[in-house]
Amino acid sequence: MSLLVQKYGGTSVGTVERIEAVADKVAGFRAQGHDMVIVVSAMSGETNRLIGLAQQIQEYPDPRELDVLVSTGEQVTIALLCMALKKRGWDARSYTGGQVKILTDSAHTKARIQEIDEANMRADLAAGRVVVVAGFQGVDELNNITTLGRGGSDTTGVALAAALTADECQIYTDVDGVYTTDPRVVERAQRLDRITFEEMLEMASLGSKVLQIRAVEFAGKYNVPLRVLSSFKEGPGTLITLDEEEDTMEKPLVSGIAFNRDEAKITLAGVPNTPGVAASILAPIGAANIEVDVIVQNVGADNTTDLTFTVNKGDMKAAVAVLEGVAQEIGAREVRADSEVAKVSIVGVGMRSHAGVASQMFTALAQENINIQMITTSEIKISVIIEERYLELAVRCLHTAFGLDAEPEESRVRG
Ligand code: ADP
Ligand code: ASP
Ligand code: MG
Repeated sequence: MSLLVQKYGGTSVGTVERIEAVADKVAGFRAQGHDMVIVVSAMSGETNRLIGLAQQIQEYPDPRELDVLVSTGEQVTIALLCMALKKRGWDARSYTGGQVKILTDSAHTKARIQEIDEANMRADLAAGRVVVVAGFQGVDELNNITTLGRGGSDTTGVALAAALTADECQIYTDVDGVYTTDPRVVERAQRLDRITFEEMLEMASLGSKVLQIRAVEFAGKYNVPLRVLSSFKEGPGTLITLDEEEDTMEKPLVSGIAFNRDEAKITLAGVPNTPGVAASILAPIGAANIEVDVIVQNVGADNTTDLTFTVNKGDMKAAVAVLEGVAQEIGAREVRADSEVAKVSIVGVGMRSHAGVASQMFTALAQENINIQMITTSEIKISVIIEERYLELAVRCLHTAFGLDAEPEESRVRG
């Protein structure tokens, strides 16, 4: 008998029929004697719908009130799932984040979990109940409702598993594991049996939304056994493992390919090439709460420099507005912005022990005539910024170039 924390995502609870199917699954585990803590997302599309309502009233909705609004999505599904479990004869009890209580900081819409009170959950488990918790939400010290950022139910699942020292945290979703790349983009993507935390962290931070990055961070930090599985199809899924297997040398150079369409590129051209100039440009961007991703600086022959960096598409307008002021102050020539860019990254711990991976990547892109605009690397990843319209082509050609394609008969999009 084990204690399992299972998280079911939006598609898995997208209709009443699917909630009933989740109840059947949970009841099956409970019948085997496992203690069950279930985290659910809002029904698919609901969080977007609620954000859309808010934006009809305020272009940039008030963060505190937005959290009050969007947290209702998950409140619906916890209640419906408990009803479905009770209908099947299993006692169950629903909790919002605040009722648990999941204490977070006060950073509305991107709060971080600080502490979890296990008392209610432990008492319910001891009484044989299934515990059903609303994902994606908590409360701050003053009892304000907070949310954990898009995809945050994954983090709720992992955090509860850590707090309860669960035997496994199982993330049930609409694909049957973590793939070499998004199987909806590359038909010949392959499911990985295992992936290291380190690689998964890179994949998540570089755009693979199958797991929220904070969930992976949390699982790594607290050593939570974490598995991604399908709600719709039996199978072993993908285990996220702490240690690299001994045969790292045998591992493929590249384990996966991640991509992110949500990038915009901004250039401040003709900047005087003096010490401190990058700081004087990027400090006001940081002060405006805009996150900067890839940064490149070129020095021109006339001793001026161009500084180019990427931000989230949604922040582009605000960043340009800030930079127009900066350009005047420091005597830069112009500010240019381009929202039609995307980032493609190859990830793999195997890269550590091999040279030449970058040139292999750049050659594959060149063969498809894809121009690289910016490059950034770390020990286990290489990312490039390219024109957005070539994104899918780039992902496919890299998937092939690094030997990740499945045999044709193995590949299907798998739910
Ligand atoms: P949920 O609603 O269950 O949280 P998400 O939509 O957040 O599900 O995440 C699952 C989706 O992640 C898949 O449908 C798939 O399109 C996408 N995805 C992106 N990269 C990968 C990858 N490397 N492996 C598997 N799925 C991926
Ligand atoms: N419902 C939230 C979202 O759509 C949280 C989640 O599903 O993980 O982002
Ligand atoms: Mg998700």
